[in-house]
Amino acid sequence: MRNHHNNALPLTAAALPLLTHAHRHVARLMSLVLCGLVLGLTSPGNAAHAGELSVTVLGSGGPMALVDRASAGYLIDIDGVPRIFMDAGGGTLVRLGQGRIFNLERVDLWLLTHLHIDHVSEFPAIVKSMYYLRRAYNVRTPLTIIGPEAWGKFPSTTKFVADHFNGADGTYAYLHDFLNTVYSPDMKLETINVPYDYETVRTPELAFDKDGVRVSTIPVMHGPRESQTPSVAFRVDYDGKSITYSGDLNSDSGNLLTLAMGTDILIYDTALGPAQRFDPPDLFHSLPAEIGQTAEAAGVKKLVLSHFMPPYTDQKIERIVSRVKEHYSGEVIVAHDLLSIPVQ
Ligand SMILES: [Zn+2]
Ligand SMILES: [Zn+2]
Repeated sequence: MRNHHNNALPLTAAALPLLTHAHRHVARLMSLVLCGLVLGLTSPGNAAHAGELSVTVLGSGGPMALVDRASAGYLIDIDGVPRIFMDAGGGTLVRLGQGRIFNLERVDLWLLTHLHIDHVSEFPAIVKSMYYLRRAYNVRTPLTIIGPEAWGKFPSTTKFVADHFNGADGTYAYLHDFLNTVYSPDMKLETINVPYDYETVRTPELAFDKDGVRVSTIPVMHGPRESQTPSVAFRVDYDGKSITYSGDLNSDSGNLLTLAMGTDILIYDTALGPAQRFDPPDLFHSLPAEIGQTAEAAGVKKLVLSHFMPPYTDQKIERIVSRVKEHYSGEVIVAHDLLSIPVQ
């Protein structure tokens, strides 16, 4: 199916400049039908899926190469249609193909927890992949990217996106032309910078509210105060259901607990490194006991452990899960790539 898809779109792109206006219209319609038939796309807003909220794990690993886990990335479906990316580390693009997730034309929101490379390195590649679909389906809604403001060595989310796609001096300046001038429709990228300071911002902030989808954010602690990585956690609420994603964090600030209160699904950073490390404090990540305590105190229904670091033998994961369960009475799910988890 993936090979058919790859063949279909370049055929259309190459043919269009040779055709008259009327022929182009017919060709576009044909391309839409072709794409729909080949990809087996669900129609947007399918009534059979009304009110549904689910998340698919694109990458359950961390920054190191692993046999079976891509770096961090998640995709949220609303009403059965992919709409929101959360992060996009290395390997997540190929996971989309492996999962036959081709209907990305209605994704209009991207939540970036922080700019560590294992969370963002595949962002520009997926944007370009989405561009072809948006063009084929004539989707003109902007793509809104929400992430932390600048601090220390880290640019703001706005600068991060501009550094990629700015038409004058962006790393991928050529894509600015693709996205904005060469073809119609435009693919506009909009950015929102949210506060990163977990000491001064202690309550969730509403960052996006449209068509019943509400996104809240709160700063979290990821690294020592003096050299911290500006990082935020996100919560998506829709039709009385919710998914919360911790990003990377040390749980000391308590902010994630505030954000995750009563949430249906909590995806929690479970990056325990080589020697690690069940007891000594880790300023970058959370310990199993903290994960369990936070999920229990927040009344989380499903706790998803993800972002594993090597070595993560089955025995080590079992040990993490049992330690978490000492503190948390709800359902614990160990993430793997392409696992899809619905809110029920
Ligand atoms: Zn990470
Ligand atoms: Zn990180």
